[in-house]
Amino acid sequence: MISKIILEDLISQTKKAIDKSTSIVIVSHVNPDGDAIGSSLGLYHFLFSQGKETRIIMPNSFPNFLNFLPDSSDILIYDDYQDEAIDLIESADLVFCLDFNQLKRVGAMEDVIKNCKATKILVDHHPFPDTFANITISHPEIASTSELIFRMICRMGYFTEMNIHSAECICTGIMTDTGAFSYNSNSPEIYTIISELIKKGVDKDALHRKLYNNYSAQRMQLMGYLLSQKMKIYAEYGTAIMVLSLAEQETYHHKKGDSEGFVNLPLSIHGITFSIFLKEETDTIKMSFRSQGNFPSNTFANRYFNGGGHLNASGGEGLGTIEETVTYIESILPAFYQEWVDNNNNKEI
Ligand code: 5GP
Ligand code: MN
Repeated sequence: MISKIILEDLISQTKKAIDKSTSIVIVSHVNPDGDAIGSSLGLYHFLFSQGKETRIIMPNSFPNFLNFLPDSSDILIYDDYQDEAIDLIESADLVFCLDFNQLKRVGAMEDVIKNCKATKILVDHHPFPDTFANITISHPEIASTSELIFRMICRMGYFTEMNIHSAECICTGIMTDTGAFSYNSNSPEIYTIISELIKKGVDKDALHRKLYNNYSAQRMQLMGYLLSQKMKIYAEYGTAIMVLSLAEQETYHHKKGDSEGFVNLPLSIHGITFSIFLKEETDTIKMSFRSQGNFPSNTFANRYFNGGGHLNASGGEGLGTIEETVTYIESILPAFYQEWVDNNNNKEI
């Protein structure tokens, strides 16, 4: 038995909105990850099975390792097909906004979505959602948006109609947003849901291999290089920082998704509770933060780097050059760490 966490009223409003729509668009956040793509495709396959004309539009491209997901090639990338994407959004009568809490997270699509006439339904698990949507299904206590999509489909009464494609995409999002069930995954109901997905025909072990044992040799070499040459440990603050420059990305023929997961690596070192990964991009520095226990990575991201996310997984944007950003982190880290220690009454967590 899976408990009813989404309010009945929101479920019935969502069902009504789907029933009366003829043209549906699903959007998610920039640099879409496994949960953004998994939840979008999971919902897409369900809506398609209901005969609903549906398109998924992502702000920019997603990592190649997600290409195996059924119909991922039908996802429209706004950066590449702007005119077509704008037409679709402007003519849609329903837009699902998945896996983000603030409209700015859709990047260049923000204004088009804000101004379109469609009913907007937000389904998300990040804290503090904005109020732009007509229907807001926000559950920060749930590990993935994909899990919320599963719950939503079931609660609308369509569990028996959920097909294997939908199930596989939902399972992908749950798996990737829990680090293959290594964090945010203590809720027993996650495993009840996974059990139902397996009964639908999902090969969980094969899915894990496709998601995690599918890297290029160059990606592994880049990982080795970063760990041996670029990882800086700040033992007194339980923190590690790794930086990846554009030049290094070129040397290792870095492709989108190649550095996915690198930020987690230092957390396996004894005593490290906070890991920061900086990736230089042509016009910005993408920052990823990961933490363990109650160390608030999202407060750090939000307070200093115009970002946000979950307690243990968040992101933001660097300031100035990569070196300047590291120098800035080094200047704020001691006080931030001390604040966390003080909040925990000087006890190690
Ligand atoms: P990642 O490090 O995998 O890119 O992102 C980790 C988490 O932080 C994700 O849940 C993502 O949605 C969130 N996140 C990443 N970058 C940003 C950002 O610039 N702003 C906000 N608000 N959240 C972010
Ligand atoms: Mn997510």
